[in-house]
Amino acid sequence: MADQIQPVSGMNDVLPFEVGAWQHFEACTSELLTAYGYEEIRVPIVEHTELFRRAIGEHTDVVGKEMYTFEDRGGDSLTLRPEATAGIVRALISNGLLRGQRHKLWCLGPMFRHEKPQAGRYRQFWQVDVEAVGCPGPDVDAELIALSARLWQRLGIAGLKLQINSLGTPESRREYRSRLVEYLRARESQLDADSQRRLTGNPLRVLDSKAPQMQEVIRGAPLLTEYLDAESRAHFEALCSMLRSAGVSYEINPRLVRGLDYYNRTVFEWITASTGAQNAVCSGGRYDGLIAQLGGDATPAIGFAMGVERLVALLVAAGRTPLPTGPDVYVVVSGAHAAERALELVERLRSERPTVRFELNVGEGNFKAQFRRADKSGARLALIVGDDELARGVVAMKPLRETSGQSECPIAQLASGLDAALAAVGRAGDVPLV
Ligand code: ATP
Ligand code: MG
Repeated sequence: MADQIQPVSGMNDVLPFEVGAWQHFEACTSELLTAYGYEEIRVPIVEHTELFRRAIGEHTDVVGKEMYTFEDRGGDSLTLRPEATAGIVRALISNGLLRGQRHKLWCLGPMFRHEKPQAGRYRQFWQVDVEAVGCPGPDVDAELIALSARLWQRLGIAGLKLQINSLGTPESRREYRSRLVEYLRARESQLDADSQRRLTGNPLRVLDSKAPQMQEVIRGAPLLTEYLDAESRAHFEALCSMLRSAGVSYEINPRLVRGLDYYNRTVFEWITASTGAQNAVCSGGRYDGLIAQLGGDATPAIGFAMGVERLVALLVAAGRTPLPTGPDVYVVVSGAHAAERALELVERLRSERPTVRFELNVGEGNFKAQFRRADKSGARLALIVGDDELARGVVAMKPLRETSGQSECPIAQLASGLDAALAAVGRAGDVPLV
């Protein structure tokens, strides 16, 4: 026997029994985003490496050590997208869609980061990305956050906590940065290797360290909020007040910084207590400088990304997933002539009753085996297409969940006969939540 090919580490299959929860999540999300006026955009999975270097920043973990970068056959350096914002901004610029226009966009798809795989942290993972381009906020910041809060409510995910902070402007951050570096240099021996590396390239990222040995140093560090410029402070206060009046609870976390370099002012994160160390399910912030940095007209913008695997895991844990949808009708086939005619009959019914789900028995099997499959399928009704019945111009129908007996229906009136039989057994209809 040949060796089995192994899956790539950190890249998951979503199996049919799991797909229902994913589809439920996707349907709720896209419905809510549409209701808030967001339009879907689809951008490539692969971009020029330069895009991510310039957008995310050379000294971030993502660019420094997590990207899937390769040379294509034409010699170009390309990268599998590690996040979606850079590609969406690139698309707006490439398609000439900026120039004072506003855009409310969302995008769903896989992202790729070469991280250490563990529960809730993968190398291919899915995000729903939401971006509001063209408004300086804070009104749009507050509405985006309210949208995310409403989504958890619709999905039935409880226990998520919102943390917010303001990173101020690049200028106010520069002053803070030198103060932070001073503080960290004085404690250099206490820093872990990652933090020592970040100290020169990206000292703010030290605050984002999850290493236990770093927590005490982080707790004592000077706070960015003390260095905020007056405008950023007013922006942040207005955001907080809008959230309060909209009834969205939050906690100000003055140490919240984000892993990507392009953020300014508003940053936020929704965290859960229930997924262990991988506790962020949705994170985002304002990126007013990014578009100009990538060669577009200077345009303010804010966005966030949700981690689909982490949210689907919470949905499943909360039991808020749809029941699997089996067929409404299982078509049992008996005899050689019936085997020839069954497909034709079922296809005709599928044309006449497009919302009814039929499962046609394929792969033969005796009567008993076919009824076993019919029971297992979850269908409420069996249609029996048999040689004897066909000879008499009828098809038999049998409720599968009740003891009421078998009946017959003339082929010429099959569609209306089926309606009546389905009404009698109570068609599964809309999918209830378990
Ligand atoms: P984390 O702190 O967990 O590394 P992050 O700050 O790198 O997250 P973002 O880049 O802002 O996260 O991505 C947005 C969301 O995508 C996160 O809140 C998380 O839910 C999810 N996410 C990020 N990286 C992964 C991953 N490797 N596997 C699964 N989900 C992820
Ligand atoms: Mg990360």
